[in-house]
Amino acid sequence: MSVARKEVEIAGGGLAGLSLGVALRGRGVPVRVREAGVYPRHRVCGEFISGVTDDELGGLGIADLLEDAERHTSTVWFDEGGEVMRGELPSAARGVSRFCLDLRLVQRLRELGGMVETGARVEGVAGGREGLVLAVGRPRRESKWLGLKAHYSDLRLEAGLEVHVTGKGYVGLTGVEDGRVNVCGLFDRGEALGAGGRGGAVVRAVREAGLGELAGRLEEAEVDERSVTGVKQFLLGWQPRAGVDELRLGDQAAMIPPFTGNGMSMAFQGALDAVEPLVGWSEGRMGWREAVSMVRKAHRRRFGARLRWSWLLHGLLLNGGTRQVCLGLVRQGWVPFEAIYRRVR
Ligand SMILES: Cc1cc2nc3c(=O)[nH]c(=O)nc-3n(C[C@H](O)[C@H](O)[C@H](O)COP(=O)(O)OP(=O)(O)OC[C@H]3O[C@@H](n4cnc5c(N)ncnc54)[C@H](O)[C@@H]3O)c2cc1C
Repeated sequence: MSVARKEVEIAGGGLAGLSLGVALRGRGVPVRVREAGVYPRHRVCGEFISGVTDDELGGLGIADLLEDAERHTSTVWFDEGGEVMRGELPSAARGVSRFCLDLRLVQRLRELGGMVETGARVEGVAGGREGLVLAVGRPRRESKWLGLKAHYSDLRLEAGLEVHVTGKGYVGLTGVEDGRVNVCGLFDRGEALGAGGRGGAVVRAVREAGLGELAGRLEEAEVDERSVTGVKQFLLGWQPRAGVDELRLGDQAAMIPPFTGNGMSMAFQGALDAVEPLVGWSEGRMGWREAVSMVRKAHRRRFGARLRWSWLLHGLLLNGGTRQVCLGLVRQGWVPFEAIYRRVR
């Protein structure tokens, strides 16, 4: 006998919302996504995917969409004093632009019969309500940091992931599709996007962060001006307490410091945790509040330690004195990079 299923409405069609939508459609649940923006579009993101497993992506029904992503196996870190460490990544990471990935996800969701409305901002989401999933991304809170991202071509990297850290922020460089390099960083709020072209703002921010040599490399390379995006409003860590009916996913639930390169994986994993409770609610086997509570418990178990470690490391890395001590220990080989990398995944 077929079961009448209730529709799940998802506010926000980023990674968490779209991947949840695909997984629910794969299980026969009616899905409607309302997305404030349009596809495809560039977003502020390092586009370095690390932590989520093939099985988890398979569980969501999206593993094949990432099959041709760039695979990164090595990393090199620098500070003002030069190279800190160079080595293999404990597990291979993927590189693919949000421009490409979000479009693939939305196409998959539509193929599976999911409804996706674009240019459709959901108002009054605070407090939540039965059947509504909040996957609307990072809460808009003024931050002391400015996040900037741009794609470059003709830019050679020394490893799959290059990271440059100074007292005024950090920049990561990694390859995405078509030979392009994603350059993305968090900078102590200085210049906003503006005069000198949008690409000019990235070079200026990199230079002001004390990374003159990297700024020179960027000037030599070719920037895709359309890819330059910036963000200055976000809140790191667990987000403020939610109401009992609010089912939050992705950055809306918790935002891990970007240097970890783990936020996208958390969006996928958080969505995966919500699938079975939402199927249960949709089929009438479970109440809404029970489903919300199950998802929250799963998130606490999965992300609690990861967020605590990343918060600690974010503070140590961005504080002048502790950064030098920590990176000095890594440089000497006294702190194992691999162990730290695993703690934030
Ligand atoms: C500088 C920086 C660098 C980063 N680098 C990396 C990295 O290298 N690797 C990594 O894994 N993670 C990285 N991240 C984190 C990663 O981008 C996020 O964790 C991830 O995008 C979260 O996905 P999400 O679905 O929660 O939110 P998003 O992908 O932001 O999607 C939220 C969607 O909701 C829509 N929306 C908002 N409000 C409404 C509304 N009211 N109604 C309808 N729609 C709405 C938005 O338009 C958006 O499309 C980085 C973040 C920053 C800031």
